[in-house]
Amino acid sequence: MTQPKFGPSTKAIHGAPQRQPDRTPVVTPLYQSSTFHQPVGSGEEVLYTRYGNNPNQISVAAKLAALEGAERAIFVASGMGATALAHLAMLRPGDHLLSSEWIYGGTRRLFVEEFGKLEIDVTFAQPDNPRNWRQLIRKTTRAVFVETPTNPLIRVLDPEPIATFCRERGIAMIVDSTFATPINFRPLEHGADVVIHSATKYLNGHSDVIGGVVAGTEAVIEEVRQLMQVWGQAPDPFAAWLTERGLKTLAVRMERHNANGLAFAEWAHAQPAVQTVHYPGLPDHEDHAAAAEALDGFGGMVGLTLAGGPTAAEIVLRKLRVAAHAPSLGGVETLVSEPRFTSHASLTPAERAAQGIPDGFIRVSLGIEDVEDIIADFEEAFSSL
Ligand SMILES: *Cc1c(COP(=O)(O)O)cnc(C)c1O
Repeated sequence: MTQPKFGPSTKAIHGAPQRQPDRTPVVTPLYQSSTFHQPVGSGEEVLYTRYGNNPNQISVAAKLAALEGAERAIFVASGMGATALAHLAMLRPGDHLLSSEWIYGGTRRLFVEEFGKLEIDVTFAQPDNPRNWRQLIRKTTRAVFVETPTNPLIRVLDPEPIATFCRERGIAMIVDSTFATPINFRPLEHGADVVIHSATKYLNGHSDVIGGVVAGTEAVIEEVRQLMQVWGQAPDPFAAWLTERGLKTLAVRMERHNANGLAFAEWAHAQPAVQTVHYPGLPDHEDHAAAAEALDGFGGMVGLTLAGGPTAAEIVLRKLRVAAHAPSLGGVETLVSEPRFTSHASLTPAERAAQGIPDGFIRVSLGIEDVEDIIADFEEAFSSL
């Protein structure tokens, strides 16, 4: 019997739906156990939660693989754990990694501060022009890393030219797809080899778990699993269980995040207090065409450059009541942060301005509250400027 094709909402809830035996629980039970009874005198696989074979780890990973359209996926202790392990699986001493310039601050630190010690060279390319990739390629280049959509300007890369560039040269393409989730974008369908997520964000979606995902081929994910085992990056069973629970509503949450993102961006666009709105769903965003082509939804992340600069940002952040001033993103609650104090704190104001993130820039992660209430919250805050 051929497997029917299921939609993303069904996959997020069931993985591959199957009839279950009578009187078994509908919800995967929590196996909050580090170890399992082992048959005496048996050479069978040892069950131990750090090895990644706890049932909760396996169950959530199967659903994530189904959502990404991957042969296999693995759930690990954090997004950074996923990024580190995916690259360790693909690269060896002497190899070169070509990374996009527009990446998460923690990822940049990993590449710059740690990979050198492993004799992995990393260079950074301005990712929006294929010529930049071609100029920086070396004989030793083994992988290309990109993040899309990006933080905090919500730039959306056209995946096809980068995938073609990689395929022609036999280079692995690794994509951090945290901002999109598999509901809005599935990198493997566009030629990527490996997908990374911080499950801390939308996948779990409730701001109460730290977790990460790597999805790809059976061989790559088995390598990641072995690295996870020896580098100690396995997730706690409860984190896996909570993420599986959060995942069940991923599709409906993303529908609301997408709707709230667009409604908020359109509202903000008309506000005199706002100089620029960064949202790929707006027709004047520089990547609107690429985003409309590659994505199934524009997401819930909106960047705002306030006309009044950092003083205005401070006044607004002190007034907001619905939106919480906190780093991170992708939860059911609206969160606001300032890149100058978080992801881009290591740069000078001039360097930030040159990147399009002047002081007075705030990043909004639209939650799934009633969007009228979020807008009213900002309206009230803007009224005191
Ligand atoms: C948060 C984030 C990470 C790191 O994830 P953690 O779960 O905090 O380790 C990596 N990439 C992106 C795009 C992120 O937003």
